[in-house]
Amino acid sequence: MGGVRAQFATPVNIEMSLYSINFFAHFDEVVGHPADYRPHGYLFVATSEQHMNHLKANHERQRALGLKNVEFVTREEIVKTVPQLRADDIIGGTFCPTDGFVDPHSVMMGFMLSARERGARLWLDTEVVGIDVENGRVAGVETSRGRVETRAVVNASGAWASDVARMAGVDLPVVPLRRQLVPTEPFDQLPSRFPMVIDMSTGFHFRREGRRILLAWNDPEETPGFKTEFDPAFIEKILTRAASRVPCLEEAEVNTQRAWAGLYEMTPDHHAIIGEAPSVSGLFFANGFSGHGVMHSPATGRIVSELILQGEASLLDAKPLGVERFAEGRLLEETSVL
Ligand SMILES: Cc1cc2nc3c(=O)[nH]c(=O)nc-3n(C[C@H](O)[C@H](O)[C@H](O)COP(=O)(O)OP(=O)(O)OC[C@H]3O[C@@H](n4cnc5c(N)ncnc54)[C@H](O)[C@@H]3O)c2cc1C
Repeated sequence: MGGVRAQFATPVNIEMSLYSINFFAHFDEVVGHPADYRPHGYLFVATSEQHMNHLKANHERQRALGLKNVEFVTREEIVKTVPQLRADDIIGGTFCPTDGFVDPHSVMMGFMLSARERGARLWLDTEVVGIDVENGRVAGVETSRGRVETRAVVNASGAWASDVARMAGVDLPVVPLRRQLVPTEPFDQLPSRFPMVIDMSTGFHFRREGRRILLAWNDPEETPGFKTEFDPAFIEKILTRAASRVPCLEEAEVNTQRAWAGLYEMTPDHHAIIGEAPSVSGLFFANGFSGHGVMHSPATGRIVSELILQGEASLLDAKPLGVERFAEGRLLEETSVL
């Protein structure tokens, strides 16, 4: 959508530096900042009946929730879309043309500017160093710029969420997990425009990013920790998966200087934790998005603001997302973490 204003007027799976799955938000109003939304579509490629069953279940839920344009596609249609795929084991897939990518920095700036326009004051370069709790209620926040008296605090500190929760004496099961992305050098052997392709047999997924191809894969050997350096050994691992599904990618050049790593903020069931802390009133969590946080951000903002102002969310029933689900054994299921 480029310089056009982003409109979340139709259900879309938005995505940024790679990734999306089944969450979509349906907002009827126009949100007023560009997000560089590029609706290139998502193409899920299945190689087993188990994958197809997963896609069927997703498809049913998506349609029930209003996303009507997800289609099943045959192997032939998949190959027509991306002829460079190795397709001998592909049995089908799904395609949604309004899935796509956004620029996460623009999304963040949009939220910040909108908040400011509505009277919020933003303190940049300010660290939260303590949360004061009195009689089971939030009373204030200690920061590197001084104390703020408040009865409501939203923990939105990403991979650092459990450290911040601990300041209020609360255990929050969110751990940092490194996630690495590898762009190729300019590569012209794939179409100039094609959807993001998700190879369900390995989890390898790729898409075009300008003249380059962005390669992504969730390494199951990765271990939790605040690791943000890129591991050069990852390149061979991901290129093996890439070349297996897209043989011409064997010829792609990769510059390690362009590869990068960041932190996912993982929960035990890979679903977000949204809601008030059971033991500290006024402490709200917007945490643990497990790699889906950009997609979930419009809905999260609305849910959390409604929880604070009205005590319940109108967008969806937020209770299943509460942190108490872990203690009560009510884990949610999410098998599609890319
Ligand atoms: C490589 C990679 C690819 C990804 N791809 C996608 C994708 O395609 N789609 C998608 O939806 N999501 C994706 N994600 C996940 C997404 O980036 C996160 O889910 C999202 O950024 C979480 O947003 P957040 O605001 O909760 O946390 P963050 O964006 O991490 O922001 C938390 C902020 O809190 C600050 N903070 C921490 N502690 C303190 C403190 N004590 N005081 C003050 N500030 C503090 C941090 O400095 C940080 O600025 C990806 C992540 C990575 C690493």
